[in-house]
Formats: sequence, C-alpha cells, structure tokens
Amino acid sequence: MIDNSSSKGCPEPGAGARVAVLLPLPLAGPYDYRAPAGERLAPGLVVRVPLGRREVIGVVWEAPANADAPAVGDAALRPVLAVLETPPVPEPLRRLVDWVAAYTVQPPGAVLRLVLSVPDALMPPRSARGWSRAARDGGAPPARLNEGRARVLAALDEAAAHGQPALVTADLAARAGVTAAVITAMGKAGLIAARGMDGDPAPGPGPDPAHPGPVLSPAQAGVAAELRARVGAGFSVCVLHGVTGSGKTEVYFEAVAETLRQGRQAVILLPEIALATQWPERFQARFGARPLTWHSQVPDGQRRRGWRGVAQGRVPVVVGARSALFLPFPALGLIIVDEEHDASYKQDDGVPYHARDMAVVRARLEGVPVILASATPALETLENARRGRYHLLRLPARHGGAVLPAVTLVDLRAHPPQRWQAGGEDAPFQTGWIAPPLVSAIRDTLAAGEQVLLYLNRRGYAPLTLCRHCGHRLACPNCSAWLVEHRASGRLCCHHCGHQRPIPTTCPACGAEDSLVACGPGVERLAEEVAHRFPKARALMATSDTLGGPKEAAEMIRRVGAGEVDVLIGTQIMAKGHHFPGLTLVGVIDGDLGLAGGDPRAAERTHQLLHQVAGRAGRAGRPGRVLIQTADPGHPVMEALASGDDAVFLETEAAEREAHGLPPFGRLVALIVSGEDPGATQATARALARCAPEGAGVRVLGPAPAPLSLLRGRHRVRLLLKAPRAVRVQPLVGSWLDQVPVPRGVKVQVDVDPVSF
Ligand code: ADP
Ligand code: ZN
Repeated sequence: MIDNSSSKGCPEPGAGARVAVLLPLPLAGPYDYRAPAGERLAPGLVVRVPLGRREVIGVVWEAPANADAPAVGDAALRPVLAVLETPPVPEPLRRLVDWVAAYTVQPPGAVLRLVLSVPDALMPPRSARGWSRAARDGGAPPARLNEGRARVLAALDEAAAHGQPALVTADLAARAGVTAAVITAMGKAGLIAARGMDGDPAPGPGPDPAHPGPVLSPAQAGVAAELRARVGAGFSVCVLHGVTGSGKTEVYFEAVAETLRQGRQAVILLPEIALATQWPERFQARFGARPLTWHSQVPDGQRRRGWRGVAQGRVPVVVGARSALFLPFPALGLIIVDEEHDASYKQDDGVPYHARDMAVVRARLEGVPVILASATPALETLENARRGRYHLLRLPARHGGAVLPAVTLVDLRAHPPQRWQAGGEDAPFQTGWIAPPLVSAIRDTLAAGEQVLLYLNRRGYAPLTLCRHCGHRLACPNCSAWLVEHRASGRLCCHHCGHQRPIPTTCPACGAEDSLVACGPGVERLAEEVAHRFPKARALMATSDTLGGPKEAAEMIRRVGAGEVDVLIGTQIMAKGHHFPGLTLVGVIDGDLGLAGGDPRAAERTHQLLHQVAGRAGRAGRPGRVLIQTADPGHPVMEALASGDDAVFLETEAAEREAHGLPPFGRLVALIVSGEDPGATQATARALARCAPEGAGVRVLGPAPAPLSLLRGRHRVRLLLKAPRAVRVQPLVGSWLDQVPVPRGVKVQVDVDPVSF
C-alpha cells in the first residue's frame, strides 16, 4: 500500500511527506509525522512512531491537505519509524472511531484504543505468511475466472516474480483491487493456498451455511426471510422482538447464513455473561463449526490470532462482548445485538459508549443491516420502532407448542417466610427467605423429578452486617457501600472496589463480643435454607464467584443438563440465555430488589430481568411456572409480569419519561466530577454549575452526590444536563468544559446517555 506512482513529483531525498497519525492515547487528535522519503502512507496503515522517549503504534489517519508538500526543514517533525505488516484499519472503522469520539465527547485516541486492543497483534509477523498460487498437478488453468479473481492470480505472479512468495490477505486484496472475501472464497475454492501461517492457525473448515439447521415453523420462516432479504441490501435496523423460547437465535442464524453465502463477515454481540451459555454449541449445531469468541477473558495469544484473522478476512463469524464491535472486519456484512436491552452493553469506564447504539452507527457507516434481538426491547428501541426508524419483527409464540410459564405473585405480607432451626430444639432460630407457597411449589416440583431455579441477585451470605449492641454497620472504607459477608471464604467484601477483611469477632465500633449479625439474604444464605428444608435435593450455587470461568460454566451446564442437579441457586448469571429442558419452576426470592433507589430506569430494568429469569422455566414440553416473592404486588412491574401483558406497563413508563423529558424523549449528559480531596471536587463541580449552558430548553441539575458518592477512595459529585431531543448536546458540553480549569487530582468524566440517571 506504499504508493510511489504519484505523478505529483518526488520529494527531495531524505524528506518525506507530512502524515497524520492517531495514537491510542487520550490526546487531542492525530499527531503529524514525516513519512519515509519518497513514500506516501495510505490512511489505515499501522505504523510505529516515536513519542517522547517511547515508541508507540498508531494508525495513519486522514491524508492532510498538504500531503504532497515535502516536510523539508521541518525539524520538529519526527519520522515514522516503520510501517507494520498488518492489515490496514478499514475506512468505515476509522470513521466509527471519529464518530464515537465526537458523540461521547472523548479524545479519538481513547476510542482508537478500543480498536488496537491487541498491541502485540500489530507487530510484524516473524516470517512472511499469506497466500500464494495453489500448486496444480495438471497445470491447466481453471476453466473460468472472473476479472477480480484473475487480477488476484496476476498480483500473486507479479509478487512472486519480485521474490515475494506469499502476500497477506489485505495486501493481496489491495493489489488486486478486490475485497478480502474474494480472497477467502478463492482459498476455499482451492485456487490459492495459505502458506507459512506462522503463529496463525491455518484456516480450518469454517461455518457452513449449507449445514442442515432446524426446520423453521411458518412464523419463524417468515421472519427469517425478511432478515435474509436485508443482507446485502444496504443499511437497515430490524428489531427482532420475540418471547423467550420463540427461536430468535435460530431465526437470526438464517441471516448469518445468508451473510456467509455472500462471502462476508458477521459479528454477533452478546452480554458478557451470556457468552458462557450454550450459545457457541448452538452455533456449531447450525453451522458445523465454532465462531471466534471475543471478550475480555480471552488469553493474549488467542486475541492476537483472532484479531489478525478478523483483519485478514479469514474469520467469517465473531461472537463477542461489546468490544467485538471494534474489530477490524474488512468485509463486514451483518451485525447482530442479542439481548439488546441489556445494561452491560453500556461501558462505564474509559470511553462510556453504548454498544447497541454504536452497533447501529457502525452498520450505517458500513452500509449493512443490524438486528437488535430481545424479548424485552429497551424503551429507546421501541420508540425508534414507533417512529419508523427501526423495522419491528415479532415472534409472538414459543417454539414447538411450549407455553409461556404461568407467573404468580407471592405477597410476602400475607405469606411471610417461616423461621427455621438448624439443630435440635435448643438451636437458635434462623430467618427464612422462602415463603410457604414457594416451599410447597419446590416440594411438588422435586417430587415430579423436575428442576428448580431459585433466583436472588445477591452474591455472598448477607448484604449487610450490623452490631446488635450499638447499631454500627460495617462499611467499605473506600466506597459508600456496605461490606458483603462471604461466609464460604470467611470474609467481608466490597463489591465495588474489592476491599476485603476477615469477619471480625467483635464490633469494630463498640467492642462488644459476638454482637455482629447478618442482615438480609445472599445466595449462600439461601443455599443454607434450601439444604435445611430439602435435605435430599442436590443443590448447586451458580454465581460469578462459583463460575469463575468458561470451564466452570460449561461444567455447570453439563451437570444441570444431565439431571445431576435438583435446585439451582443463582444470581443474574443464571438469568440469561440458558436452556434447561428439565427446569419447570423458577422462584424469585426478592422481586423488589431492583426497584429500590431513585433511578428512573429501575422499573424497566427490573421488568426486563425478571421477565428473562421467568423465561428459563418450561422451555421444553413440560409447562413451567414462576413464583415471584414481593412485598408490593400492586407495583406496575409486578402486575405486568403476572399478567404477561407488558403493553400497559411500557405505555405508562413511556408517558412518565416523556412528561419529565427523560430518554428516549429527551437527552441527558452526566458530568461526574471526582477526586480524593472532597473540597477540590466540590469546588470544581460548583464552578461547572456556575457556567452551565442554558437556553433552548437546556437545563443543568446539580451538583449532587453521584449514585456511589465515594468509590475507590474518590468523592463523586454529579451534574446532569437535560436537553430536548433536537438539541445537539456535544458542542454545548465541549465549550462548557473549556471554561472551567480542572485542578490536579480532580477528574471530570463526561457520560452521554448515562444508563442510570
Ligand atoms: P429465544 O432466543 O427466542 O429464547 P431460542 O432460539 O433459544 O429462543 O429457541 C428456544 C429453543 O427452541 C432452543 O432450544 C431452540 O433450539 C429450539 N428451537 C427454536 N426453533 C426451533 C425449530 N424451528 N426447530 C427446532 N428447535 C427449535
Ligand atoms: Zn469499596
């Protein structure tokens, strides 16, 4: 991609053109460097440049206006040290970086870091590797080659004539003027051969769209046809709204199949914890091969190979967490965001972006379709569908005649859980958390030889420990949060910063002995009660503590599937994606848990989560039921869950948001001011408040304590900018920040479209 053919004259020897390089660092913009003499560096090339005393890897960004003017005598301009032999960062992805940076009001280099997430991957490979002509015994040329393919062979011949036995995909594609998909297809057809795959796996048999999949029901087939028709037909957004168990996955697999048939790449985003489910096996069942998995736990070597494989167009399908959205696909054909409502798509540190929204942006920049799938789409998504921007497709029934589980509310005021004793008559009474109606439902289910899931979204033994004597509560020294008792490990832990301490035997405040009591339930405590009430049942706890990695998750799935478990006790990690045919009862221990607090999104989120959990029941032939324990059965969320009709709930929610100018009807930007020194933090927040933008319906609320007002030792204060939808908030925020000097040690983090507000 080094272009010497420019007719605009050659720079003098020793001088090179000025070139803008974006570095993956939080700097204001690209830095200028001097290209090697006589070379013009195309945007997208990955280069190594000096920065201070360091050498860093960056990407040639835009061609500056005076690219042809030699940088003679510009002593300040430092040289590009090397052009790396790695596929260039494709143009739509470079535009996505700029777009995300502008939208989130973050430096573009900080966003580039999401792309260059594998610095090691970008180092030049140790030995040349790539494609060469396939050896043919007969020597007869393939009967018919289209123009593009012929150019590929010509490019290989030319390279071979110049002593280059092989070319990497991107290089070959660029020389021949074809897409990477053409190269891949030729590889598959045996016209060219991969060689010298040093460090990279030889492409094995990839996912095969012709591999037989399940026979779709007429309703599924109708939706699948709509999705297929959009592949290859430019940008569009489809919302795939189907009840749990309706076969959304099988249906969107058909769109993936079409993408593969067209020789393009597909990326499927899943919430990180859903990646540990049976999803990859289901993909394999449909396509006969596994997709590449991409998330934060993937080991370095695998990441490096994965990144390169994607960039070279050798990896046709990636399933991953939100970061997969920033992979350098040269031939992207389809994006799918599964469980699109999931809050984990919002990254809250670093660059705070929402992967679902940025997936729509990337699809637009790439000119490809995006599918947003969910049983409970976000209000934002439904509103976009209502306005006709997104195309709504529905799957209203479970597949194969399975019925949706019947949901019953258990009013905790009418049916308080009974206390129990661990030992003989003299043993102390323990607080119970399972109400009598749920106890008998569990008994019946176990008697029928079926499985139970008890859902409680709280890790550990108890969320709060207090002194019976003086009322002291054990809090984290670094955060405004209580310490959570983990009895299994004998420690008190902060779930925000990881602070830990042994469980004390005396109260740290008053010194009283044996006065500390555990308050409220966690899954460990629930497991204790299950062991007491159902001593014969084989119980298994499934939380992020017990399912540390994919291996443990796979083992859990195997044991439940094999019927080795009777009662599963799980947190949110169990809510999503799992499909256990023998599971017929779901008991929600504390339905009101997510509703507390002042977050206006709490109701929507609780509804989504409990709906998801409920969907784990009765997914095969046997009907399922769900019991939700609540102290507030009249709450709109509880009523919606019990009736199975969320229309009223969603309408009320939407009306309330609209009345208050909240998203999706208005725009919000949060400024979180944080620092170790509370005085400096407050002063900065007040200074920001004093010069807050105003007018055109724009208002700034605060400063007020942020939801976690102390986090990892930093005090946090929040300002909230509210604006009507029509207002472009980014320029307002930009000039707002410019007016206020931020002292050392204080940080102002901008969060456009905060998830909680
Ligand atoms: P959702 O994602 O909507 O919850 P899934 O795609 O997980 O639904 O489908 C639920 C279950 O039904 C899965 O086990 C899936 O394999 C099965 N299923 C869905 N559609 C079909 C079909 N047409 N033929 C056979 N099995 C199907
Ligand atoms: Zn803490």
